[in-house]
Amino acid sequence: DHRIARISSAIRVIPNFPKPGILFQDITTLLLDPKAFKDTIDLFVERYKDKEISVVAGIEARGFIFGPPIALAIGAKFVPMRKPKKLPGEVISEEYSLEYGTDKIEMHVGAVEPGERALIIDDLIATGGTLCAAIRLLERVGVKVVECACVIELPELEGRKRLGDKPLFVLVEAA
Ligand code: IMP
Repeated sequence: DHRIARISSAIRVIPNFPKPGILFQDITTLLLDPKAFKDTIDLFVERYKDKEISVVAGIEARGFIFGPPIALAIGAKFVPMRKPKKLPGEVISEEYSLEYGTDKIEMHVGAVEPGERALIIDDLIATGGTLCAAIRLLERVGVKVVECACVIELPELEGRKRLGDKPLFVLVEAA
């Protein structure tokens, strides 16, 4: 697809952020290019519009940028999956491991119903730990996770393997 090259070149790579040795994939420059941003949303909408998805679950923070326009276009609800202590209502949470220590994501109780069909969206998959936690959280409340989608995959970290047989769709692979 000719749109992929434009999207790929609109993503900026910043060395040594947030720590020495990390090559950070920065999607804020993609947002500065309205054509590339629209193409990004369109590619996801084309893939998911006829898949009977009722929930787009976006992972904080950059899943909140890509998720809502996709949700509106396919006629699904948007559900934020947030870092701990951000959501004001009753939450359920799921822990996941990081390089050092653990983190958690949370979702409001009652945001989704058993039997709903979800798409999980984030900007990037690295080790896959975040997406795995999001899948577990939704499955715990009886939601079917149809697919996970990211703009960027770091294939060397093999996050795709960690997702097991859960399908993952990405637009761009980065080094
Ligand atoms: P994982 O859990 O190891 O797959 O890490 C994915 C999470 O970390 C996502 O929520 C990403 O937004 C974030 N992340 C990791 N590396 C980068 C990067 O290079 N750019 C932007 N986000 C990143």
